[in-house]
Order: sequence, then C-alpha cells, then structure tokens
Amino acid sequence: MPAPRGRDRAEQRRVTEIVAGLRQRYGHAECALRHDSPFQLLIATILSAQCTDERVNQVTPGLFARYPTAAALARVPLPELEKAIQSTGFFRNKARHIQACCQQLVECHGGEVPHDLDALVRLPGVGRKTANVVLGTAFGLATGVVVDTHVTRISRRLGLTRQTNAVRIEQDLMRLLPPEEWVAFSHRVIHHGRQVCRARKPQCAECVLADLCPRIGVTERS
Ligand code: SF4
Repeated sequence: MPAPRGRDRAEQRRVTEIVAGLRQRYGHAECALRHDSPFQLLIATILSAQCTDERVNQVTPGLFARYPTAAALARVPLPELEKAIQSTGFFRNKARHIQACCQQLVECHGGEVPHDLDALVRLPGVGRKTANVVLGTAFGLATGVVVDTHVTRISRRLGLTRQTNAVRIEQDLMRLLPPEEWVAFSHRVIHHGRQVCRARKPQCAECVLADLCPRIGVTERS
C-alpha cells in the first residue's frame, strides 16, 4: 500500500534537511584522492579499493612521475608496476587491471578518459562506483551517487535505505536526492563517516544530523 502523502512530504523534508546539514558542516568537502587530471583520478580510484586514500596519495605522486600517461602505464613491465603500487594491497590484481585499462584507453579512446558511464564501466577494473567518482569529480557530471563503505553505513543509519547492495543503495539515494546533490552528497557523507559517524562508536552527541537521524543499527555511540 502506498505511504500516505503527508508522510512522504515529511520524509522529503527530512532528506532536504539532511542534505542542508551536511552542506553546512562539510561545504567544501572534496575527493580526498589527490589528482591533476581525470586520468590520474581514474588510476587513483582503482588503487583505492581496499586501501586508504592516504596510502594511495603516498603512492601516486611517484607513480605518475614515472608513468605520466595511459600509454606509459600500458607498456610498463607488469612486475615493475606491481612493485610501484605494492603498498596499496591487492597489487597483482590492481596492476593487471590498471595495465589492461590503460591499454584500452590507448586503443579505444586515444589515451584519454571517456566522459560517459557506459564507456567507463567497460574499462577493466572500473565498476560503477569508480565511474561515478571520475565523472562526478573530474568532469562534474552527475551520473549517480558514489556508494562506498561510509555512504553505505551512514545511509542505512539515517534510514535513507534498507539495502545492503551498493547498486540498490545507489538507486534509493538517486530517488531521494536531487541530481545536483549527487556528487557533493557522497563527498560530504564520506567526510562525515571519517570524522563523526564512524563505523564503531559514532559520535552522535556531536553530530549535525542528530535530530534527523533514527540511528538505525547503532548500538554503541559516544
Ligand atoms: S546521529 Fe549518530 S548515527 Fe546518525 S548520522 Fe549522526 S553520528 Fe551517525
């Protein structure tokens, strides 16, 4: 049975206030992966799987100094690339993906990162999350909402979704949020997750969203 319209309106108002609260608190939140181009952001995002952004930021300056283009990364001997990215973890898989991705960039896109979602997700090692990061951050194109571990956790605590699957969470968030908020919302929630709404013991007493949050699934807080 569809929810009563008054309840829909109240929920929409709550979502609007959550968006405004995050904007007020984390107005200038940006992608934490350092990059100077869409290509650098693409590679950094692939490296960030199962790794902290800080660690990736330690590795990428040296990596891009030695291999500044897709063509350079496409032809580097694999063991050399593995060594260069070893500290980011899962380095054998990441090296294979990066090299195959760069080969495809060279062969199909003139060495440039394509601007569209379909072309991006066809690149080896690039899923919807990585594609949304690159399109939203490097090109300013809102094609979806980046759903990482912070966005997953906080969206569920806030009652914006009940899903656990990233694709379904993204669908819920895209329904609730206006498209112009998709990119910034993810950046701000990721900052909120690092600073306040941590996985263990979220700091609800200091949270800008405290009055709007049902704290679903939160058992321990400080
Ligand atoms: S009130 Fe607590 S659970 Fe809700 S968003 Fe804030 S820190 Fe997270």
